[in-house]
Amino acid sequence: MGLFSKKSSICTICKKETKHKHKAKKEWYVESPLCGDCYMDRMRDEYDSNIKSKCMTCNTQKKVTDLWEPRWQWDMQGLLCKTCFDKKETDFNSKKAFCTICGVKLGFFRYNPKSGWKVSGQLCRKCWDEQKAKNE
Ligand SMILES: [Zn+2]
Ligand SMILES: [Zn+2]
Ligand SMILES: [Zn+2]
Repeated sequence: MGLFSKKSSICTICKKETKHKHKAKKEWYVESPLCGDCYMDRMRDEYDSNIKSKCMTCNTQKKVTDLWEPRWQWDMQGLLCKTCFDKKETDFNSKKAFCTICGVKLGFFRYNPKSGWKVSGQLCRKCWDEQKAKNE
C-alpha cells in the first residue's frame, strides 16, 4: 500500500526518505525518525554545545549550560560566565542609577563621559563639568 515500503520513513528534519531510522533524543525537541545525516548533525551540535562556548568577557571556555545570556538592556551578543554576568549586572545597576564619581542619584538627565576621560559610567552635570574642565 502506498509508495513507502515498510522499511523507509521520512526524516522529520530534511523530509527525505530514509532507511536508517534514528531516534531523536528528547532534549533536541525534534520528532523522530531522523535520517543518518540529520542525526549526525544533531549529535555534533550537541557535542559542540557541551564543550565549546566562551564567555565573551573573560574568554573562559565553559559548557554552554554554565553560561548565561546577557540581559537585553546590556546590548551585548554572546554568552557570559556566571562571574561576569554578576559583575555586569552590578555594574549596570550601579551605573544606571548613580553618578559614577560622586555617587549622587541620577535623574532623567545623565551625562556620558567623553572617551578620553578614563571614566566609565554616567555622570551628574556637576561632575561632568568638573571632568570637562580637568581634561581640557
Ligand atoms: Zn534528515
Ligand atoms: Zn567570564
Ligand atoms: Zn557626580
